[in-house]
Amino acid sequence: MQGTSYCKYGFDVEKSTGFLASFAMQLKKECSVRSACAYFEIHKKHKTGVAKLDTNDRSKIPITLIQDIYESWIGSVTHGMSNIPADLVFLVIDPFIGEGSTVSNSTPQTFIPSI
Ligand SMILES: [Zn+2]
Repeated sequence: MQGTSYCKYGFDVEKSTGFLASFAMQLKKECSVRSACAYFEIHKKHKTGVAKLDTNDRSKIPITLIQDIYESWIGSVTHGMSNIPADLVFLVIDPFIGEGSTVSNSTPQTFIPSI
């Protein structure tokens, strides 16, 4: 499992989260005093906490984090780090595992990879 913080990806909240993957991910380190996000560097605190977010906002994932996961996956596949034949390789990102899905009225962000 690799941890990161949403604030490192531009969110106002410092939400530390762990991700499981079958490949090595190159994610930004969790926010800390030694490795603070840009907002924390300036204000010495975060703008808001996870507990203050509504359910919809609590479930959002920064699109740049999804990009990092995707690019890590592409790197593992294209650099031969995967033992799985290329025609059987696919990427599934399940942000709701263990949490359950939520209904959202907001417009979902779309990430269209360029290969
Ligand atoms: Zn932070």
